[in-house]
Amino acid sequence: MIGIFGGTFDPIHYGHLRPAAEVGQALSLVKLFLVPASIPPHRPAPVATAEQRLHMVQLAADEFAELAVGDCEIRRGGISYTVDTLRHYRQLYPQISLCLLLGSDAFASLQSWHQWQSLLTLAHLVVMQRPHHDNVVPEWSEARLTRHVDELMSSVSGKVHIHKVTPQDISATGVRQAIAAKNELATLLPPRVLQYIQKHHLYE
Ligand code: ATP
Repeated sequence: MIGIFGGTFDPIHYGHLRPAAEVGQALSLVKLFLVPASIPPHRPAPVATAEQRLHMVQLAADEFAELAVGDCEIRRGGISYTVDTLRHYRQLYPQISLCLLLGSDAFASLQSWHQWQSLLTLAHLVVMQRPHHDNVVPEWSEARLTRHVDELMSSVSGKVHIHKVTPQDISATGVRQAIAAKNELATLLPPRVLQYIQKHHLYE
């Protein structure tokens, strides 16, 4: 199985990295791509440029054996729709299970995503619970729920798996605020990402 984990990653932090690495191990994903968005559709423009965010994702992924980087959204440019990204990976891997990782807040709002129903024809959803966020399971997903990782291998898309990860009470908003306030950051993101942020005076 291949994992795909998209985000604005402005900046990437341990709240992204640790849960993703846990899922990568638990599901024995052969590859797990972190895919930074070019222009995210649902939110204000990111502070760091696409290239800076991609660079930080690369530095972060180097720290985790389970994680790789996908630059398809940034190469594509424009507004980044996850459905286009899944089509890209489906073309690369026509016969293998794809797992789209997302936090429980993103899962709760999935129906507002561009062509959201197509997402499930292209991939399984693997939901990582997030502290202080909506952990409800929407009614539309109930018939698709599976507790068993094996079931994610028996079909290539269409199931929803809620994965209990070690909670990481970290958000990119909190990281940006901590940088602006000159607070301690070492527990929030990898040292090499922190060095990059400091070198480029990001989020000050
Ligand atoms: P911001 O605070 O700027 O909104 P963010 O920290 O939510 O950013 P995003 O890049 O928007 O980060 O999130 C990308 C994906 O990572 C989303 O699916 C989100 O739910 C998930 N995610 C982010 N932080 C966590 C966390 N601490 N635990 C689990 N999932 C997370």
